[in-house]
Amino acid sequence: MAERLLKFTSVDPAMPGKRPATERTGDFAEIYGEFIQAKATEQASRCSQCGVPFCQSGCPLQNNIPDWLKLAAEGRMQEAYELSSATNAMPEICGRICPQDRLCEGACVIEQSGHGAVTIGAVERHITETAWAEDWVDLIRPVREREDSIGIIGAGPAGLAAADVLRGYGYQVTVYDRYDRAGGLLVYGIPGFKLEKHVVARRVERLERSGVVFKLGFEVGRDASFDELRARHAAVLVATGVYKARELPVPGAGGPGVVKALDYLTASNRKSFGDTVPDFESGALNAEGRHVVVIGGGDTAMDCVRTAVRQGAASVTCLYRRDRANMPGSAREVANAEDEGVQFAWLSAPRAIYSDASGATGVRVARMRLGEPDGSGRQAPEEIPGADHDLPASLVIMALGFDPEDIPAMFGCPDRPVRRDGTIATVGSVQVKGMPGVFAAGDIVRGASLVVWGVKDGQDAGQAIHSWLRQQQSAARIAAE
Ligand SMILES: Cc1cc2nc3c(=O)[nH]c(=O)nc-3n(C[C@H](O)[C@H](O)[C@H](O)COP(=O)(O)OP(=O)(O)OC[C@H]3O[C@@H](n4cnc5c(N)ncnc54)[C@H](O)[C@@H]3O)c2cc1C
Ligand code: SF4
Repeated sequence: MAERLLKFTSVDPAMPGKRPATERTGDFAEIYGEFIQAKATEQASRCSQCGVPFCQSGCPLQNNIPDWLKLAAEGRMQEAYELSSATNAMPEICGRICPQDRLCEGACVIEQSGHGAVTIGAVERHITETAWAEDWVDLIRPVREREDSIGIIGAGPAGLAAADVLRGYGYQVTVYDRYDRAGGLLVYGIPGFKLEKHVVARRVERLERSGVVFKLGFEVGRDASFDELRARHAAVLVATGVYKARELPVPGAGGPGVVKALDYLTASNRKSFGDTVPDFESGALNAEGRHVVVIGGGDTAMDCVRTAVRQGAASVTCLYRRDRANMPGSAREVANAEDEGVQFAWLSAPRAIYSDASGATGVRVARMRLGEPDGSGRQAPEEIPGADHDLPASLVIMALGFDPEDIPAMFGCPDRPVRRDGTIATVGSVQVKGMPGVFAAGDIVRGASLVVWGVKDGQDAGQAIHSWLRQQQSAARIAAE
Protein backbone atom coordinates (compact mmCIF):
# COMPACT_ATOMS: atom_id res chain seq x y z
CA MET A 1 0.00 0.00 0.00
CA ALA A 2 2.97 2.32 0.53
CA GLU A 3 2.97 3.25 -3.17
CA ARG A 4 -0.47 4.81 -2.61
CA LEU A 5 0.89 7.16 0.06
CA LEU A 6 3.80 9.55 0.77
CA LYS A 7 3.24 11.32 -2.54
CA PHE A 8 3.82 14.77 -1.12
CA THR A 9 7.02 15.20 -3.15
CA SER A 10 5.38 14.33 -6.48
CA VAL A 11 1.80 15.61 -6.06
CA ASP A 12 1.15 19.29 -5.34
CA PRO A 13 -1.47 20.25 -2.75
CA ALA A 14 -4.83 21.13 -4.28
CA MET A 15 -8.21 22.36 -3.14
CA PRO A 16 -11.46 21.63 -4.98
CA GLY A 17 -12.15 24.18 -7.73
CA LYS A 18 -13.08 27.67 -6.53
CA ARG A 19 -15.62 29.64 -8.54
CA PRO A 20 -14.18 32.86 -10.00
CA ALA A 21 -14.93 35.99 -7.98
CA THR A 22 -17.00 37.56 -10.78
CA GLU A 23 -19.32 34.55 -10.78
CA ARG A 24 -19.54 33.78 -7.07
CA THR A 25 -20.34 37.33 -5.94
CA GLY A 26 -23.63 37.08 -7.85
CA ASP A 27 -25.10 34.55 -5.41
CA PHE A 28 -24.83 33.05 -1.91
CA ALA A 29 -23.86 29.52 -2.96
CA GLU A 30 -20.64 27.95 -1.64
CA ILE A 31 -17.55 29.10 -3.45
CA TYR A 32 -15.67 25.75 -3.43
CA GLY A 33 -16.85 22.81 -5.54
CA GLU A 34 -16.45 19.13 -4.69
CA PHE A 35 -13.37 17.00 -5.29
CA ILE A 36 -14.00 14.29 -7.82
CA GLN A 37 -13.19 10.87 -6.38
CA ALA A 38 -9.83 10.57 -8.19
CA LYS A 39 -8.70 13.97 -6.92
CA ALA A 40 -9.65 13.20 -3.31
CA THR A 41 -7.77 9.91 -3.50
CA GLU A 42 -4.74 11.65 -5.00
CA GLN A 43 -4.73 14.39 -2.36
CA ALA A 44 -5.13 11.86 0.47
CA SER A 45 -2.13 9.97 -0.96
CA ARG A 46 0.11 12.96 -0.13
CA CYS A 47 -0.09 12.03 3.58
CA SER A 48 3.29 11.02 5.03
CA GLN A 49 1.69 8.74 7.69
CA CYS A 50 3.80 10.23 10.48
CA GLY A 51 4.45 8.05 13.52
CA VAL A 52 3.39 10.98 15.69
CA PRO A 53 0.53 12.65 13.78
CA PHE A 54 0.66 16.34 14.61
CA CYS A 55 -2.45 16.93 12.46
CA GLN A 56 -4.40 14.80 14.92
CA SER A 57 -3.11 16.86 17.86
CA GLY A 58 -4.00 20.03 15.92
CA CYS A 59 -7.61 18.90 15.53
CA PRO A 60 -9.77 19.68 18.59
CA LEU A 61 -11.60 16.37 18.04
CA GLN A 62 -8.34 14.41 17.80
CA ASN A 63 -9.68 12.94 14.57
CA ASN A 64 -7.82 9.85 13.32
CA ILE A 65 -6.72 11.80 10.27
CA PRO A 66 -3.79 9.68 8.99
CA ASP A 67 -5.94 6.54 9.17
CA TRP A 68 -8.87 7.94 7.21
CA LEU A 69 -6.51 9.58 4.72
CA LYS A 70 -4.90 6.17 4.17
CA LEU A 71 -8.30 4.54 3.60
CA ALA A 72 -9.29 7.35 1.22
CA ALA A 73 -5.99 7.00 -0.66
CA GLU A 74 -6.82 3.31 -1.10
CA GLY A 75 -10.31 4.19 -2.37
CA ARG A 76 -11.93 2.57 0.71
CA MET A 77 -14.36 5.44 1.16
CA GLN A 78 -16.99 3.72 3.27
CA GLU A 79 -14.40 2.64 5.83
CA ALA A 80 -12.90 6.14 5.73
CA TYR A 81 -16.36 7.52 6.48
CA GLU A 82 -16.96 5.09 9.39
CA LEU A 83 -13.68 6.15 10.95
CA SER A 84 -14.05 9.88 10.42
CA SER A 85 -17.64 9.95 11.69
CA ALA A 86 -16.68 7.97 14.80
CA THR A 87 -15.07 11.08 16.32
CA ASN A 88 -17.07 13.87 14.67
CA ALA A 89 -20.85 14.38 14.61
CA MET A 90 -20.63 16.66 11.56
CA PRO A 91 -17.44 16.06 9.53
CA GLU A 92 -18.75 17.58 6.28
CA ILE A 93 -19.50 20.82 8.16
CA CYS A 94 -16.09 20.98 9.87
CA GLY A 95 -14.43 20.06 6.56
CA ARG A 96 -16.05 23.17 5.06
CA ILE A 97 -15.63 25.79 7.78
CA CYS A 98 -12.85 24.87 10.20
CA PRO A 99 -9.96 27.31 9.89
CA GLN A 100 -7.72 24.39 8.92
CA ASP A 101 -4.66 26.62 8.54
CA ARG A 102 -4.80 27.18 12.33
CA LEU A 103 -5.76 23.58 13.21
CA CYS A 104 -5.05 20.24 11.51
CA GLU A 105 -3.42 21.55 8.32
CA GLY A 106 -1.36 24.13 10.20
CA ALA A 107 0.15 21.26 12.22
CA CYS A 108 0.74 18.94 9.23
CA VAL A 109 4.39 17.90 9.07
CA ILE A 110 4.70 18.22 5.30
CA GLU A 111 3.43 21.81 5.61
CA GLN A 112 6.30 22.42 8.03
CA SER A 113 8.75 20.88 5.54
CA GLY A 114 7.61 23.30 2.81
CA HIS A 115 5.63 20.89 0.60
CA GLY A 116 2.20 22.30 1.52
CA ALA A 117 -0.20 20.57 3.91
CA VAL A 118 -2.47 17.74 2.90
CA THR A 119 -5.82 19.44 2.20
CA ILE A 120 -7.37 17.53 5.10
CA GLY A 121 -10.61 19.52 5.39
CA ALA A 122 -11.46 19.11 1.70
CA VAL A 123 -10.82 15.33 1.85
CA GLU A 124 -12.91 15.07 5.04
CA ARG A 125 -15.75 16.87 3.29
CA HIS A 126 -15.45 14.62 0.24
CA ILE A 127 -15.53 11.44 2.33
CA THR A 128 -18.74 12.49 4.11
CA GLU A 129 -20.43 13.91 1.01
CA THR A 130 -19.74 10.55 -0.65
CA ALA A 131 -21.33 8.85 2.37
CA TRP A 132 -24.48 10.98 2.05
CA ALA A 133 -24.65 10.35 -1.69
CA GLU A 134 -24.18 6.58 -1.24
CA ASP A 135 -26.69 6.43 1.65
CA TRP A 136 -24.07 5.27 4.16
CA VAL A 137 -25.13 7.91 6.71
CA ASP A 138 -27.45 5.79 8.79
CA LEU A 139 -30.03 6.93 11.30
CA ILE A 140 -29.04 6.62 14.96
CA ARG A 141 -30.22 3.19 16.11
CA PRO A 142 -29.76 2.79 19.89
CA VAL A 143 -29.15 -0.75 21.11
CA ARG A 144 -31.81 -0.15 23.77
CA GLU A 145 -34.22 2.64 24.67
CA ARG A 146 -33.78 4.34 28.06
CA GLU A 147 -36.56 6.08 29.95
CA ASP A 148 -34.53 9.06 31.11
CA SER A 149 -35.17 12.24 29.19
CA ILE A 150 -32.56 14.90 28.55
CA GLY A 151 -33.32 18.56 27.78
CA ILE A 152 -30.85 20.45 25.62
CA ILE A 153 -31.17 24.24 25.44
CA GLY A 154 -29.70 25.44 22.14
CA ALA A 155 -29.67 23.74 18.74
CA GLY A 156 -26.23 25.00 17.64
CA PRO A 157 -23.32 22.65 16.95
CA ALA A 158 -22.76 21.95 20.67
CA GLY A 159 -26.42 21.05 21.31
CA LEU A 160 -26.73 18.98 18.12
CA ALA A 161 -23.51 17.05 18.81
CA ALA A 162 -24.69 16.26 22.35
CA ALA A 163 -28.09 15.14 21.02
CA ASP A 164 -26.33 12.78 18.62
CA VAL A 165 -24.33 11.09 21.41
CA LEU A 166 -27.23 10.90 23.87
CA ARG A 167 -29.69 9.50 21.37
CA GLY A 168 -27.04 6.90 20.51
CA TYR A 169 -27.25 5.73 24.14
CA GLY A 170 -31.04 5.50 23.81
CA TYR A 171 -32.04 8.55 25.90
CA GLN A 172 -35.20 10.52 25.09
CA VAL A 173 -33.76 13.83 23.90
CA THR A 174 -35.61 17.14 23.50
CA VAL A 175 -33.75 20.13 22.02
CA TYR A 176 -35.21 23.60 22.73
CA ASP A 177 -34.27 26.62 20.64
CA ARG A 178 -35.62 30.16 20.53
CA TYR A 179 -35.04 30.34 16.78
CA ASP A 180 -37.52 28.90 14.29
CA ARG A 181 -34.83 26.71 12.67
CA ALA A 182 -32.27 24.42 14.29
CA GLY A 183 -28.53 24.94 13.70
CA GLY A 184 -27.68 28.06 15.75
CA LEU A 185 -24.97 30.12 14.08
CA LEU A 186 -24.63 27.43 11.40
CA VAL A 187 -27.93 28.67 9.94
CA TYR A 188 -28.30 32.30 11.01
CA GLY A 189 -24.67 33.47 11.48
CA ILE A 190 -22.44 31.79 8.91
CA PRO A 191 -23.38 32.81 5.33
CA GLY A 192 -24.31 30.33 2.61
CA PHE A 193 -21.15 31.02 0.59
CA LYS A 194 -19.20 29.24 3.37
CA LEU A 195 -21.87 26.70 4.35
CA GLU A 196 -25.02 26.08 2.38
CA LYS A 197 -28.07 25.66 4.58
CA HIS A 198 -29.24 22.33 3.19
CA VAL A 199 -26.03 20.81 4.63
CA VAL A 200 -27.16 21.76 8.14
CA ALA A 201 -30.83 20.87 7.54
CA ARG A 202 -29.77 17.37 6.46
CA ARG A 203 -28.03 16.81 9.83
CA VAL A 204 -31.03 18.13 11.78
CA GLU A 205 -33.41 15.94 9.80
CA ARG A 206 -31.29 12.87 10.55
CA LEU A 207 -31.53 13.61 14.27
CA GLU A 208 -35.29 14.14 14.00
CA ARG A 209 -35.76 10.89 12.11
CA SER A 210 -33.63 9.18 14.77
CA GLY A 211 -36.08 10.25 17.48
CA VAL A 212 -34.68 13.57 18.75
CA VAL A 213 -37.54 16.01 19.42
CA PHE A 214 -37.00 19.67 18.47
CA LYS A 215 -39.07 22.37 20.15
CA LEU A 216 -38.32 25.45 18.08
CA GLY A 217 -39.44 29.01 18.77
CA PHE A 218 -39.13 28.02 22.44
CA GLU A 219 -37.15 30.45 24.56
CA VAL A 220 -36.06 29.27 27.97
CA GLY A 221 -36.78 32.13 30.35
CA ARG A 222 -39.87 33.15 28.33
CA ASP A 223 -41.75 29.94 27.44
CA ALA A 224 -40.57 28.00 30.49
CA SER A 225 -38.29 28.86 33.36
CA PHE A 226 -35.01 27.04 33.68
CA ASP A 227 -36.22 25.38 36.89
CA GLU A 228 -39.32 24.07 35.08
CA LEU A 229 -37.10 22.52 32.46
CA ARG A 230 -34.82 21.07 35.11
CA ALA A 231 -37.84 19.42 36.74
CA ARG A 232 -38.98 18.03 33.39
CA HIS A 233 -35.71 16.21 32.55
CA ALA A 234 -33.26 13.87 34.24
CA ALA A 235 -30.44 16.15 33.08
CA VAL A 236 -30.22 19.47 31.24
CA LEU A 237 -27.52 20.76 28.92
CA VAL A 238 -27.12 24.51 28.38
CA ALA A 239 -25.66 25.20 24.93
CA THR A 240 -26.96 28.69 24.27
CA GLY A 241 -23.95 30.32 22.60
CA VAL A 242 -22.89 33.97 22.99
CA TYR A 243 -24.99 36.70 21.41
CA LYS A 244 -24.32 40.05 23.11
CA ALA A 245 -22.56 42.22 20.53
CA ARG A 246 -19.59 44.25 21.84
CA GLU A 247 -20.24 47.98 21.63
CA LEU A 248 -18.09 50.53 19.85
CA PRO A 249 -17.23 53.30 22.36
CA VAL A 250 -17.15 56.23 19.90
CA PRO A 251 -19.55 59.13 19.25
CA GLY A 252 -22.30 58.26 16.76
CA ALA A 253 -22.02 54.50 17.26
CA GLY A 254 -25.67 54.27 18.31
CA GLY A 255 -26.89 56.46 15.43
CA PRO A 256 -28.92 55.68 12.32
CA GLY A 257 -27.24 53.51 9.69
CA VAL A 258 -25.03 51.76 12.27
CA VAL A 259 -25.98 48.09 12.67
CA LYS A 260 -24.80 45.01 14.52
CA ALA A 261 -23.06 42.28 12.52
CA LEU A 262 -25.30 39.45 13.66
CA ASP A 263 -28.52 41.38 12.94
CA TYR A 264 -27.16 42.07 9.47
CA LEU A 265 -26.06 38.46 8.80
CA THR A 266 -29.24 36.95 10.26
CA ALA A 267 -31.38 39.14 7.99
CA SER A 268 -29.33 38.07 4.97
CA ASN A 269 -29.52 34.39 5.90
CA ARG A 270 -33.27 34.67 6.43
CA LYS A 271 -33.62 36.19 2.95
CA SER A 272 -31.78 33.12 1.58
CA PHE A 273 -34.56 31.01 3.09
CA GLY A 274 -37.15 33.23 1.41
CA ASP A 275 -38.38 34.72 4.71
CA THR A 276 -39.92 38.19 4.90
CA VAL A 277 -37.54 40.40 6.87
CA PRO A 278 -38.99 43.90 7.46
CA ASP A 279 -35.59 45.46 8.32
CA PHE A 280 -34.16 44.11 5.09
CA GLU A 281 -37.14 45.23 3.03
CA SER A 282 -36.90 48.74 4.57
CA GLY A 283 -33.22 48.91 3.57
CA ALA A 284 -31.96 49.12 7.17
CA LEU A 285 -30.14 45.76 6.87
CA ASN A 286 -29.55 45.74 3.10
CA ALA A 287 -26.23 46.93 1.63
CA GLU A 288 -27.47 47.30 -1.93
CA GLY A 289 -26.13 50.48 -3.53
CA ARG A 290 -24.52 51.65 -0.28
CA HIS A 291 -21.01 52.55 0.80
CA VAL A 292 -20.40 49.98 3.49
CA VAL A 293 -17.78 50.18 6.24
CA VAL A 294 -17.33 47.09 8.41
CA ILE A 295 -15.47 47.59 11.69
CA GLY A 296 -13.53 44.56 12.97
CA GLY A 297 -11.01 42.01 11.76
CA GLY A 298 -12.39 38.59 12.70
CA ASP A 299 -14.32 35.96 10.78
CA THR A 300 -17.62 37.73 11.47
CA ALA A 301 -16.26 40.89 9.83
CA MET A 302 -15.15 38.83 6.82
CA ASP A 303 -18.64 37.34 6.54
CA CYS A 304 -20.17 40.85 6.64
CA VAL A 305 -17.92 42.35 3.96
CA ARG A 306 -18.50 39.41 1.62
CA THR A 307 -22.27 39.49 2.23
CA ALA A 308 -22.32 43.22 1.42
CA VAL A 309 -20.52 42.55 -1.88
CA ARG A 310 -23.16 39.96 -2.78
CA GLN A 311 -25.98 42.35 -1.90
CA GLY A 312 -24.62 44.80 -4.47
CA ALA A 313 -22.94 47.41 -2.24
CA ALA A 314 -21.43 50.42 -4.06
CA SER A 315 -18.19 49.94 -2.07
CA VAL A 316 -17.08 47.79 0.86
CA THR A 317 -14.24 48.71 3.21
CA CYS A 318 -13.03 46.80 6.25
CA LEU A 319 -11.49 48.93 9.02
CA TYR A 320 -9.05 47.09 11.26
CA ARG A 321 -6.83 48.67 13.88
CA ARG A 322 -3.90 46.26 13.55
CA ASP A 323 -2.16 45.10 10.35
CA ARG A 324 -2.82 42.14 8.09
CA ALA A 325 -0.37 39.85 9.89
CA ASN A 326 -2.17 40.44 13.19
CA MET A 327 -5.67 39.95 11.94
CA PRO A 328 -7.68 37.34 13.88
CA GLY A 329 -9.69 36.30 10.80
CA SER A 330 -8.60 33.35 8.68
CA ALA A 331 -5.99 34.33 6.05
CA ARG A 332 -7.96 32.30 3.50
CA GLU A 333 -11.13 34.33 4.13
CA VAL A 334 -9.22 37.64 3.89
CA ALA A 335 -7.82 36.55 0.51
CA ASN A 336 -11.31 35.53 -0.66
CA ALA A 337 -12.68 38.93 0.40
CA GLU A 338 -9.91 40.77 -1.46
CA ASP A 339 -10.60 38.74 -4.61
CA GLU A 340 -14.25 39.75 -4.31
CA GLY A 341 -13.39 43.46 -4.31
CA VAL A 342 -13.29 44.34 -0.59
CA GLN A 343 -10.90 47.16 0.38
CA PHE A 344 -8.94 46.71 3.61
CA ALA A 345 -7.95 49.75 5.64
CA TRP A 346 -5.29 48.26 7.92
CA LEU A 347 -4.05 50.16 10.99
CA SER A 348 -7.27 52.17 11.01
CA ALA A 349 -9.65 52.70 13.92
CA PRO A 350 -13.00 54.52 13.98
CA ARG A 351 -12.94 57.76 16.01
CA ALA A 352 -16.54 58.84 15.29
CA ILE A 353 -19.47 57.98 13.04
CA TYR A 354 -21.36 60.80 11.34
CA SER A 355 -24.98 60.70 10.36
CA ASP A 356 -27.86 62.95 9.31
CA ALA A 357 -31.61 62.41 8.96
CA SER A 358 -31.06 60.04 6.03
CA GLY A 359 -28.69 57.75 7.97
CA ALA A 360 -24.92 57.32 8.30
CA THR A 361 -22.79 59.63 6.17
CA GLY A 362 -19.20 58.79 7.11
CA VAL A 363 -16.61 57.52 9.53
CA ARG A 364 -13.77 59.55 11.00
CA VAL A 365 -10.76 57.26 10.98
CA ALA A 366 -7.69 57.44 13.20
CA ARG A 367 -4.42 56.11 11.76
CA MET A 368 -2.68 53.62 14.02
CA ARG A 369 0.74 52.07 14.38
CA LEU A 370 1.80 48.97 16.27
CA GLY A 371 3.57 49.60 19.57
CA GLU A 372 4.99 47.32 22.24
CA PRO A 373 3.41 43.88 22.80
CA ASP A 374 0.56 43.97 25.34
CA GLY A 375 -0.36 41.36 27.97
CA SER A 376 -1.54 38.97 25.23
CA GLY A 377 1.86 39.16 23.50
CA ARG A 378 0.38 40.96 20.47
CA GLN A 379 1.66 44.40 19.50
CA ALA A 380 -0.77 46.97 20.84
CA PRO A 381 -2.16 49.48 18.32
CA GLU A 382 -1.58 53.17 19.18
CA GLU A 383 -2.81 56.29 17.46
CA ILE A 384 -0.67 58.44 15.19
CA PRO A 385 -1.58 61.99 16.28
CA GLY A 386 -2.88 64.34 13.59
CA ALA A 387 -3.35 61.63 10.95
CA ASP A 388 -7.17 61.36 11.04
CA HIS A 389 -9.17 61.27 7.82
CA ASP A 390 -12.82 60.78 6.77
CA LEU A 391 -14.30 57.86 4.90
CA PRO A 392 -17.72 58.09 3.24
CA ALA A 393 -20.17 55.49 4.60
CA SER A 394 -23.91 55.01 4.31
CA LEU A 395 -24.02 51.69 6.22
CA VAL A 396 -21.67 50.94 9.12
CA ILE A 397 -21.55 47.37 10.44
CA MET A 398 -20.01 46.67 13.85
CA ALA A 399 -18.29 43.30 14.03
CA LEU A 400 -16.32 43.58 17.26
CA GLY A 401 -17.07 40.19 18.78
CA PHE A 402 -19.61 38.74 21.18
CA ASP A 403 -20.04 38.25 24.89
CA PRO A 404 -22.52 36.03 26.74
CA GLU A 405 -25.97 37.37 27.48
CA ASP A 406 -26.96 37.66 31.14
CA ILE A 407 -27.78 33.98 31.61
CA PRO A 408 -28.95 34.18 35.26
CA ALA A 409 -31.40 36.98 34.35
CA MET A 410 -32.43 35.32 31.10
CA PHE A 411 -33.17 32.02 32.82
CA GLY A 412 -34.85 33.71 35.78
CA CYS A 413 -32.40 32.24 38.29
CA PRO A 414 -30.08 34.89 39.74
CA ASP A 415 -28.01 32.40 41.74
CA ARG A 416 -26.69 30.53 38.69
CA PRO A 417 -22.90 30.27 38.53
CA VAL A 418 -21.28 32.42 35.87
CA ARG A 419 -17.72 33.70 35.59
CA ARG A 420 -16.87 37.40 35.56
CA ASP A 421 -17.04 37.47 31.76
CA GLY A 422 -20.56 35.94 31.86
CA THR A 423 -19.59 32.47 30.61
CA ILE A 424 -20.95 29.53 32.60
CA ALA A 425 -18.59 28.19 35.27
CA THR A 426 -18.04 24.45 35.03
CA VAL A 427 -16.28 21.82 37.06
CA GLY A 428 -14.03 20.04 34.55
CA SER A 429 -15.20 20.97 31.10
CA VAL A 430 -18.97 20.48 31.10
CA GLN A 431 -20.57 19.98 34.53
CA VAL A 432 -22.05 23.23 35.85
CA LYS A 433 -20.55 24.19 39.19
CA GLY A 434 -22.79 23.43 42.16
CA MET A 435 -25.73 22.20 40.02
CA PRO A 436 -25.92 18.41 39.86
CA GLY A 437 -27.55 17.23 36.63
CA VAL A 438 -26.88 20.49 34.79
CA PHE A 439 -24.21 20.61 32.10
CA ALA A 440 -23.00 23.33 29.71
CA ALA A 441 -21.11 23.23 26.41
CA GLY A 442 -19.91 25.33 23.48
CA ASP A 443 -19.48 29.09 23.29
CA ILE A 444 -21.45 29.70 26.49
CA VAL A 445 -18.60 27.99 28.39
CA ARG A 446 -15.61 28.91 26.19
CA GLY A 447 -16.64 32.35 24.95
CA ALA A 448 -16.93 32.96 21.20
CA SER A 449 -15.01 30.10 19.60
CA LEU A 450 -15.27 27.68 16.68
CA VAL A 451 -17.77 25.14 15.42
CA VAL A 452 -15.33 22.26 15.90
CA TRP A 453 -14.88 23.17 19.59
CA GLY A 454 -18.68 23.29 19.93
CA VAL A 455 -18.88 19.79 18.47
CA LYS A 456 -16.16 18.54 20.81
CA ASP A 457 -17.77 20.08 23.89
CA GLY A 458 -21.20 18.80 22.88
CA GLN A 459 -19.89 15.28 22.38
CA ASP A 460 -18.02 15.45 25.72
CA ALA A 461 -21.19 16.71 27.42
CA GLY A 462 -23.17 13.78 25.97
CA GLN A 463 -20.64 11.34 27.44
CA ALA A 464 -20.55 13.18 30.77
CA ILE A 465 -24.36 13.18 31.08
CA HIS A 466 -24.45 9.44 30.35
CA SER A 467 -21.76 8.76 33.01
CA TRP A 468 -23.51 10.99 35.54
CA LEU A 469 -26.88 9.26 35.04
CA ARG A 470 -25.28 5.84 35.39
CA GLN A 471 -23.61 6.94 38.62
CA GLN A 472 -26.95 8.21 39.89
CA GLN A 473 -28.60 4.92 39.05
CA SER A 474 -25.83 2.88 40.74
CA ALA A 475 -26.05 5.05 43.85
CA ALA A 476 -29.85 4.63 43.95
CA ARG A 477 -29.49 0.84 43.58
CA ILE A 478 -26.95 0.61 46.39
CA ALA A 479 -29.13 2.78 48.64
CA ALA A 480 -32.12 0.53 47.96
CA GLU A 481 -30.22 -2.68 48.81
C1 LIG B 1 -20.81 35.35 11.76
C2 LIG B 1 -20.08 34.18 12.35
C3 LIG B 1 -19.28 33.40 11.53
C4 LIG B 1 -18.60 32.32 12.05
N1 LIG B 1 -17.83 31.57 11.21
C5 LIG B 1 -17.21 30.47 11.69
C6 LIG B 1 -16.42 29.66 10.85
O1 LIG B 1 -16.26 29.94 9.65
N2 LIG B 1 -15.84 28.55 11.36
C7 LIG B 1 -16.00 28.21 12.68
O2 LIG B 1 -15.48 27.17 13.10
N3 LIG B 1 -16.72 28.98 13.53
C8 LIG B 1 -17.33 30.10 13.06
N4 LIG B 1 -18.06 30.88 13.91
C9 LIG B 1 -18.19 30.48 15.33
C10 LIG B 1 -19.23 29.36 15.50
O3 LIG B 1 -20.37 29.62 14.74
C11 LIG B 1 -19.58 29.18 16.98
O4 LIG B 1 -18.39 28.99 17.71
C12 LIG B 1 -20.50 27.98 17.19
O5 LIG B 1 -21.68 28.10 16.43
C13 LIG B 1 -20.86 27.84 18.68
O6 LIG B 1 -21.75 26.78 18.82
P1 LIG B 1 -22.78 26.73 20.05
O7 LIG B 1 -23.59 25.52 19.83
O8 LIG B 1 -22.04 26.88 21.32
O9 LIG B 1 -23.68 28.05 19.93
P2 LIG B 1 -24.64 28.62 18.78
O10 LIG B 1 -24.27 28.13 17.43
O11 LIG B 1 -24.63 30.08 18.99
O12 LIG B 1 -26.07 28.04 19.14
C14 LIG B 1 -26.73 28.42 20.33
C15 LIG B 1 -28.23 28.23 20.15
O13 LIG B 1 -28.85 28.47 21.42
C16 LIG B 1 -30.08 29.13 21.19
N5 LIG B 1 -30.48 29.84 22.42
C17 LIG B 1 -29.84 30.83 23.05
N6 LIG B 1 -30.51 31.21 24.15
C18 LIG B 1 -31.63 30.43 24.22
C19 LIG B 1 -32.73 30.36 25.13
N7 LIG B 1 -32.83 31.14 26.20
N8 LIG B 1 -33.70 29.44 24.88
C20 LIG B 1 -33.63 28.63 23.79
N9 LIG B 1 -32.61 28.66 22.90
C21 LIG B 1 -31.62 29.56 23.11
C22 LIG B 1 -29.78 30.07 20.04
O14 LIG B 1 -30.97 30.44 19.36
C23 LIG B 1 -28.85 29.20 19.17
O15 LIG B 1 -29.58 28.49 18.19
C24 LIG B 1 -18.73 32.00 13.42
C25 LIG B 1 -19.52 32.80 14.27
C26 LIG B 1 -20.18 33.88 13.74
C27 LIG B 1 -21.01 34.75 14.63
S1 SF4 C 1 -12.56 18.66 12.30
FE1 SF4 C 1 -11.56 20.55 11.58
S2 SF4 C 1 -9.53 20.53 12.58
FE2 SF4 C 1 -10.36 18.42 12.72
S3 SF4 C 1 -9.59 17.33 10.87
FE3 SF4 C 1 -11.59 18.18 10.31
S4 SF4 C 1 -11.11 20.17 9.39
FE4 SF4 C 1 -9.29 19.55 10.53
